[in-house]
Amino acid sequence: MINSKMQKLGASRSVIRELFEYGKMRKAQIGADKVFDFSLGNPSTPPPNRINNTLIELISNENPTALHGYTSADGDVNTRRAIAAYIRENYDEKIDESCIYMTVGAAGALTSIITALVTEGEEVICLTPYFPEYKVFIERCGGVVHSVPTKDGDFSLDIEKIANAINEKTASIIINSPNNPTGAIYTEDEISRLADLLRLKEKEYGKNIYLICDEPYRELVYSDTKVPYCTKFYDDTLIAYSYSKSLSLPGERIGYALINPRIKNFKEIKEAVMGAGRALGYVCAPSLLQALITKCVGSTSDIESYRENAKILYNALTEYGYEAVKPQGAFYLFVRALEENAAAFSEVAKKFELLLVPSDSFGIGGYVRISYCVSREQVINSLPAFKALADYYKKERNCK
Ligand code: PLP
Repeated sequence: MINSKMQKLGASRSVIRELFEYGKMRKAQIGADKVFDFSLGNPSTPPPNRINNTLIELISNENPTALHGYTSADGDVNTRRAIAAYIRENYDEKIDESCIYMTVGAAGALTSIITALVTEGEEVICLTPYFPEYKVFIERCGGVVHSVPTKDGDFSLDIEKIANAINEKTASIIINSPNNPTGAIYTEDEISRLADLLRLKEKEYGKNIYLICDEPYRELVYSDTKVPYCTKFYDDTLIAYSYSKSLSLPGERIGYALINPRIKNFKEIKEAVMGAGRALGYVCAPSLLQALITKCVGSTSDIESYRENAKILYNALTEYGYEAVKPQGAFYLFVRALEENAAAFSEVAKKFELLLVPSDSFGIGGYVRISYCVSREQVINSLPAFKALADYYKKERNCK
């Protein structure tokens, strides 16, 4: 019998993919330079030269059977040691290789962590707007998404609302900073208050409530705000990290899950995360990419190009009358739609050849997401279309 839940998932493309496919079709019709596709979070800046050079070096010099062979289930020990050393040095956190489980990107880390820590009927708090795949990952293991809004205006943590949402069924809370889709970064003060709350609630309900930090954008920061290293604030923390964005390697599928060494029941949790990876059929993370990371840990792509794109778009759009929060990190601008219905607004934007993702699948209505990980040329050439769209709403729809 076909698993109808899975069939439904496979048959329904995400709104983001839907727009991306539309963009490809439209570009074939009218020319690639005439369509302003802001749908996907695919890095537009290439990996640093060091990446290709190291790959060539590895393929030329290393023993091919070892290089392309299986690694240990939790990853090659040298890779995990290199990552642990980097974290010790840069975040002053006392971890070793046993805390790390190499995965196929942040998605692999998240599915392994969620499957390990969420059982049938338990709730996971997701802060709106949130990355749509959380719902897929949580629901596949029988968990339930409990949506909690972030603060109106700046999308910061609303500790009071999170406090009201936690109950005896709460298994964990997922936070994502720098944030997709808002670009918000949660400050040390916010994380510290969240940690205090979670400790209090753990006591109240007599159970562990895990903090899952989804951090594929950790290095993509444009403000002075430091991205706090959450294990230092709260013992029951796990991190899902990825090199997809920091090294522009999203198709290569490499990342890791990090388990706080001070988490209660560390051994059992590590086993559950690895067991989940086994049950999901991951076997091990890509071997060649693990070898690459061993040598290139700490490198990043040219993040400055995103900073400039963010600045150009934010300044121009707010001048045209759009309402947006200045992004502090990641590579997304979250803009209030010019009509209440974000999907309808996204459809109108298409008429101006602008592909903007409506916010509904992020668990919140009324906004669109602009992925500015695109060429500078696209950003600049799209500005007249954004202006024309705003003018259309002002003139034709009598909006402010
Ligand atoms: N989490 C967030 C917030 C993301 O934006 C993405 C990808 O866009 C992921 C997780 C998945 O990242 P990866 O490609 O490393 O699996």
